[in-house]
Amino acid sequence: MSGPHVEASCHCGAVRFTLDAAPEVVTDCNCSICRRYGVLWAYYSPTQVHFDPAPPETDTYGWGRRGILFHRCKTCGCMTHWSSVDPKRDRMGVNARMLEPQVLAAARVRLLDGASAD
Ligand SMILES: [Zn+2]
Repeated sequence: MSGPHVEASCHCGAVRFTLDAAPEVVTDCNCSICRRYGVLWAYYSPTQVHFDPAPPETDTYGWGRRGILFHRCKTCGCMTHWSSVDPKRDRMGVNARMLEPQVLAAARVRLLDGASAD
């Protein structure tokens, strides 16, 4: 993590958030859901991700076995982040494709074989 605050949003701008730091690494996961969404995840503590407005206007899809909710913009449908069902878990994922292209381009892409855990 490095650099100043980083802004991100969905296509229509209804879901906007600021990150305390740009991601150095983003994760390209091949599990059954990530490969369909086509996302690149950057992982943060929820305390480092600031939604405006908060909470964001999203619809969610729950994957119970992993205990996480996938959030997409109610208006434009962009997959913006996932959150943990357990509010005490200090981890969430934001879709790095919501970041400015130059911010994403500066991050290293890590391949994760999530499919083997499906
Ligand atoms: Zn939107």
